[in-house]
Amino acid sequence: MSASAKLPPFDPADPLGLDDLLEPEDLAIRDTVRGWAADRVLPYVADWYEKGELPGIQDLARELGGIGALGMSLDGYGCAGASAVQYGLACLELEAADSGIRSLVSVQGSLAMYAIHRFGSEEQKQRWLPRMASGEVIGCFGLTEPDIGSDPGSMRTYAKRDGGDWVLNGRKMWITNGSVAGVAVVWARTDEGIRGFAVPTDSAGFSTPEIKHKWSLRASVTSELVMDDVRLPADAVLPEVTGLKGPLSCLSHARYGIVWGAMGAARSSFEAAVDYAKSREQFGRPIGGFQLTQAKLADMAVELHKGILLAHHLGRRMDAGRLRPEQVSFGKLNNVREAIDICRTARTILGANGISLEYPVMRHATNLESVLTYEGTVEMHQLVLGKALTGIDAFR
Ligand SMILES: Cc1cc2nc3c(=O)[nH]c(=O)nc-3n(C[C@H](O)[C@H](O)[C@H](O)COP(=O)(O)OP(=O)(O)OC[C@H]3O[C@@H](n4cnc5c(N)ncnc54)[C@H](O)[C@@H]3O)c2cc1C
Repeated sequence: MSASAKLPPFDPADPLGLDDLLEPEDLAIRDTVRGWAADRVLPYVADWYEKGELPGIQDLARELGGIGALGMSLDGYGCAGASAVQYGLACLELEAADSGIRSLVSVQGSLAMYAIHRFGSEEQKQRWLPRMASGEVIGCFGLTEPDIGSDPGSMRTYAKRDGGDWVLNGRKMWITNGSVAGVAVVWARTDEGIRGFAVPTDSAGFSTPEIKHKWSLRASVTSELVMDDVRLPADAVLPEVTGLKGPLSCLSHARYGIVWGAMGAARSSFEAAVDYAKSREQFGRPIGGFQLTQAKLADMAVELHKGILLAHHLGRRMDAGRLRPEQVSFGKLNNVREAIDICRTARTILGANGISLEYPVMRHATNLESVLTYEGTVEMHQLVLGKALTGIDAFR
């Protein structure tokens, strides 16, 4: 008998056998999140996307809290305490449904909750984290400003001490979950350097106009944060960090989730392309029977599963406490760029149907335009890697 007779069959859904890397508990978490997204997002998301809304976001947040997806890799305070790999698998399954849903979860867990968990006082953690883990309170994270994006060290939002209080003034732009949030983690310049503040969104002087007319992440809430003499008590400041390393460490955690999530959007588009290629006939045969289509599918599969392998490797490093920010940049740069390429190639295989919301590929492709830009643009991650490779800072 030849050695190949003992080989497991080739699985088109897992051509590299990457599921071998997963424990039963990892698979169970993945199945739970996949099942939730199949029930609660996939049947509706094209409609939400077309209308440019995310109706019932509070209910969705509570359900996501119910399956442990909010602040998933954090410990205590009602959080699931999952591994980084498990959190990554959840991000992949959520983004396979829609990047907007994964963004809701990333901003809640990796940005707002992570900031409070890592840099907050015990009182701040008790006040916010259990209700954020259950989805009762939605959080947002305000770093970007109308004139300040890639260079957050130049931010203008300012917090000034006034007796025992802080008074916050400024504007934040492009803030995911902004107008549905109960708490906003806002980063502001102070006389002591950049500080983070846990701002209750019902504070006087705080408003959140929603940003409309987006052609990407349409099933996601994006808002401005306007702060006009917002008076906060002394204990609103996150006590454990001063300086840009605060927001940057939160971003590194969120970017890690994107490394996995982008592959979810890619997987969904790839699967749509394979299905279509097998059933659509031209010139008397399925288009999947043409070598040019097969070359596209083979290249897409190679990049998709290489990307998942890379995400898994980074997850293991994070679980071992050995993941460097430059490695996260490596992952985000590669996986979002490749995911968008996979979606665009899938779009070509679907021909004219590729532009229809009847299929997910154009929705994923346009969503990924935001993912390519937020949490550090492609160019920022190239500069991070360029600096790490050469020792020369080319940011300015
Ligand atoms: C849908 C969506 C949701 C978002 N959610 C949030 C959120 O929740 N919280 C938040 O704080 N922000 C959020 N953002 C903002 C996002 O993080 C910023 O858009 C991003 O950091 C880029 O900033 P910018 O858009 O101002 O672009 P800019 O910084 O103005 O960059 C414009 C272009 O110039 C390039 N560039 C800039 N500097 C250099 C340089 N030194 N060398 C080479 N090229 C350079 C950039 O790479 C980019 O290509 C969101 C954005 C979107 C689209």
